[in-house]
Amino acid sequence: MTDVETMPDEVAVRALKVEAGQAARRWRISGWTGEFRDPEQERAYLDKHQRTIARQLRIALAVWAGLLLLFILPDFESLGNTPGFWISVAIRLSVISVLAFFAWQVKRKPVLATQARWISCLEVAGMTVFLLVYPLRPELSSWAFTLTLIILISVFVYVPSRVPAMLLVTLYMALSTLCMIHYVAPKTPIELFALFVVTLMPIGLGWGTAMRTQVLQRRQFALWQQAQEVNVALSREIEERSRLQAALVHQATTDALTGLNNRRQYEALFQYELNRSLRSGQPLCLCIIDLDHFKQINDTWGHATGDDVLKRIGQLCRDSFRATDILGRLGGEEFVALLPETDLPTALVVAQRFVDKLATTTISEAIPELKITATVGLAQRDNESHLDAILQRADKALYTGKNAGRNQVVAG
Ligand code: GH3
Ligand code: MG
Ligand code: MG
Repeated sequence: MTDVETMPDEVAVRALKVEAGQAARRWRISGWTGEFRDPEQERAYLDKHQRTIARQLRIALAVWAGLLLLFILPDFESLGNTPGFWISVAIRLSVISVLAFFAWQVKRKPVLATQARWISCLEVAGMTVFLLVYPLRPELSSWAFTLTLIILISVFVYVPSRVPAMLLVTLYMALSTLCMIHYVAPKTPIELFALFVVTLMPIGLGWGTAMRTQVLQRRQFALWQQAQEVNVALSREIEERSRLQAALVHQATTDALTGLNNRRQYEALFQYELNRSLRSGQPLCLCIIDLDHFKQINDTWGHATGDDVLKRIGQLCRDSFRATDILGRLGGEEFVALLPETDLPTALVVAQRFVDKLATTTISEAIPELKITATVGLAQRDNESHLDAILQRADKALYTGKNAGRNQVVAG
């Protein structure tokens, strides 16, 4: 779909019109065949309906075979046990076996049901056999003619095929019937014309019905496919929005440089943990981690290296603390860690381990001489219900640590 939101109104309207025009062209239906003009759409339609069309065709073939069998009875009644009767039985059975073979092929390969040429060939062959009634049993001519009218309409209504093919097949049947009738008992041109008009009636009726069905089925398919396309576009839109929302949430809660929680996020998480700790009576410790002489890193190797160092230390914090500890960037080169369900002696061990690890870690592979240490101020919650008080005590401890020579952990 065109991104109309970013366009000026007039251009957007024009783009929408072009899009609507293209869509309308895609769904155009031919008034002659009742099929989509666009071959790709027609193929898609046939692919989707292939099984239904195949089933319809098999039913039509079964009915056809059933009728052929049924007519053995009147044959017997009129012919009795004569060679003529057995010839008619043999013809009927051979036609039935051809129909059964075709039905089996259609079951095996449903795509055959969408190929009008096979169906037309079969119809023409069946009709030709039927036309033999006129020379063989002239006394049944009027019955055969009545049956012909039913067959003509059935070709359109019961046998799935392409409308132009149906038209050609039925015209063949109508004209050959007239020839046969004339052959059996010659007629005047006026009589022949009248009979032709009579055969045109079921053809017209059948043609109208088949066209209507074809067009309606294709319109329904077009609506279904449009709904599918809208659904796909909507799912994509929903997906895109969720992705965008997740990105926004990430952006709103994360420090861009280190990927740790930003101030707003860790304050919210800290407050939650503090309340939980006050309720449960479990201990809770907070560390402020301040890098020592960080300014010198910037001054010596540049701000970009300073940024890389901060990123690396962010990762080191993640690797050193437990997954349940909450880490954040307090600002600049200061980090903060909240240790739920941890008492002061344990927190001291954890913080000291971090400080020792940092002092011995090669922060930058490119600059091996770049060494950095940190001072940690630590505080355990008393009965304070607000974070600021704990933060202040940790900050005070940090200040003490800085004054005492840095690269150490001090509890306050
Ligand atoms: P101290 O041991 O007393 O903590 O010394 P310090 O140099 O670490 O502390 P000071 O507060 O004097 O300087 C902090 C420096 O951190 C100053 C500033 O340039 C640098 N800084 C703060 N934020 C960033 C940042 O996002 N990226 C970089 N590269 N440097 C930063
Ligand atoms: Mg600082
Ligand atoms: Mg510092």
